[in-house]
Amino acid sequence: MKKEDCIFCKIANGEIPSKTLYEDGDFRVILDLGPATRGHALILPREHADNLYELPEDTAAKVFVLAKKMATKMTEKLHCDGLNIVQNNGEAAGQTVRHFHMHLIPRYENDGQHILWNPG
Ligand code: 5GP
Ligand code: ZN
Repeated sequence: MKKEDCIFCKIANGEIPSKTLYEDGDFRVILDLGPATRGHALILPREHADNLYELPEDTAAKVFVLAKKMATKMTEKLHCDGLNIVQNNGEAAGQTVRHFHMHLIPRYENDGQHILWNPG
């Protein structure tokens, strides 16, 4: 189900252009508009879910398989020294966009970032 006023629905389904690293029938992976580090990416399911609690179980399973593939590719391509996976649920946890997304944040030695509870 698509939410009319949800920006990530529009991006995930290609109604708003984005820098897309990967897409398939279930997901689009895009570059974050306000990157915490070089190559900061977001995995967006095409189907709307506000957060992890609403995400269908099969999508939840697939998202981590995709995260593993993307993390591997990104590390090869960017030559980063590490990579954080962050996923915020609820305002109190730093969620600013209410469409489930998973952050893939390449890390570099001395990149000046610390613990990224809220990379946005
Ligand atoms: P949250 O804080 O909800 O976990 O993360 C939201 C992320 O989405 C932030 O890192 C923010 O920079 C990113 N973001 C917000 N709006 C847009 C947008 O329109 N396009 C892209 N590519 N990223 C966005
Ligand atoms: Zn949405």
